[in-house]
Amino acid sequence: MFGFSRIRGGVHPESHKEDSAGKPIVTDLPLPKRLYLPLFQQAGAMALPLVKPGDKVLKGQQLAITGEGLSANLHAPTSGTIIGVEEIIAPHPSGLNSAAIVLESDGEDRWMELPDESDPFQRSPEELASEVERAGIVGLGGAIFPSAIKLRQGRRFEIKTLIINGGECEPYLTTDDQLMRERAAEVVEGARLIQHIIEAYETVIGIEDNKPEAIAAMREAAAPYGKVRVEVVPALYPMGSAKQLIKAITGLEVPAGGRSNDLGVLVHNVATAYAIQQTLRYGKPLISRVLTLAGGSLNEARNVEALFGTPIQHLIDHCGGISSQPARLVMGGPMMGQQLPAATVPVMKGTSGVLALTQKEVNDKTPSNCIRCSRCVQVCPMGLVPLEMAKHAKADNFEEASSYGLRDCILCGSCSYVCPSRIPLVNYFEYAKGEMKQRRVAEHKLAYTQQLTARRSERVEREAEAKRAAKAAKKKRAKAPKAEAASTPEPATTSDTAEKES
Ligand code: SF4
Ligand code: SF4
Repeated sequence: MFGFSRIRGGVHPESHKEDSAGKPIVTDLPLPKRLYLPLFQQAGAMALPLVKPGDKVLKGQQLAITGEGLSANLHAPTSGTIIGVEEIIAPHPSGLNSAAIVLESDGEDRWMELPDESDPFQRSPEELASEVERAGIVGLGGAIFPSAIKLRQGRRFEIKTLIINGGECEPYLTTDDQLMRERAAEVVEGARLIQHIIEAYETVIGIEDNKPEAIAAMREAAAPYGKVRVEVVPALYPMGSAKQLIKAITGLEVPAGGRSNDLGVLVHNVATAYAIQQTLRYGKPLISRVLTLAGGSLNEARNVEALFGTPIQHLIDHCGGISSQPARLVMGGPMMGQQLPAATVPVMKGTSGVLALTQKEVNDKTPSNCIRCSRCVQVCPMGLVPLEMAKHAKADNFEEASSYGLRDCILCGSCSYVCPSRIPLVNYFEYAKGEMKQRRVAEHKLAYTQQLTARRSERVEREAEAKRAAKAAKKKRAKAPKAEAASTPEPATTSDTAEKES
């Protein structure tokens, strides 16, 4: 096990993991009447619907195809009838509506015919990556980045170490922990399949030292395979961040603005490895996931395997219900999760947990002035100066905030967590990053529009020039016979010839 000396900063938030850890994953939730499947639930662009109202679909059937650029396919989590594509409240802090395919369950849960999978280890890496793409798999650790793209990127680099992230450092969440305890063989096979695709030399499964049962299960499952090993890392938030885990396991630091690929390292989450195994072994697309349902407002904390599109309220109702009205509903963990606008929002690919928190757990206190205690600096895992960044981000001075490393901020919230003045530092960084992204998109659009306008002007000018040239040529041709007539002698007549000859 590595010591803390390799890791910078970090905090020890109250765990709450014991509330759900060790309880078997609930796999027999009743089918919801309707499933709501947002088209925008992956990094990049919205998926494009392939179905229309009235269509009958089977479980696993493709409903939407990957949109332009980064995107992912979407499949039916159960059999039933398509009601339509409707605007629903999205699991997003903005509360903006999102287009979603609405599927009414027929209660039969009938699978489509799944492909007869041959031994995936005998198939080519590109073929396997294409299958991962077809299955709509995205990073389930929170990044929701399309996995096939990451696999293909990995193939372009010489990857020495594949890291399977079993860190799961967010308080309350135990989904990866429970998955590793109960389905270790599948996770290890998924890891080996990723290793096969990217042709990595070795696979290291990184697990925090607060998950002894998962460590034991994964070690046993990995034991027969020489190039797969489990590495225990200290439980220290945000160890589940890819950059922290890489540092802890390899000692390498991903440079500012750089990628782990450049270091010969690729990181995939435990749940993603499991999903990839299910696709490549059984042909199953991604239609469900394991998530943690926890928080002081619930009667019982559990891990549950939920179909995408299941309303959160349905999960809560069928997993023991609430003991008190939640002060806040959060999707994800309390450190990096998003506040939910309503319990009607559905489970999505990136939903690692749902927390129903009491007022005491939310701990909302009015911020006071910065006392320059530098605690935020001490805990920042990226070595940043949060108090200075926040000052500039708050004043919309994003350039200055960037000069303090805003782009390297992983939005882990450690700084906000320790701030004695309860300054919501991470909120300023989220805001600033969002604004900067919007500006980049706007600048990109403007540059693109200018490029199109310039190209159009060039084309119009070229066409006008071509018309002018054609007109001039026509005019020239029209004049040509007369001019030629004037300069070309009439053919000589017999008499002329005779005259000349005489
Ligand atoms: S932790 Fe809070 S009070 Fe202390 S320096 Fe940072 S922002 Fe200021
Ligand atoms: S949110 Fe950003 S600035 Fe704050 S501790 Fe995390 S990485 Fe550092």
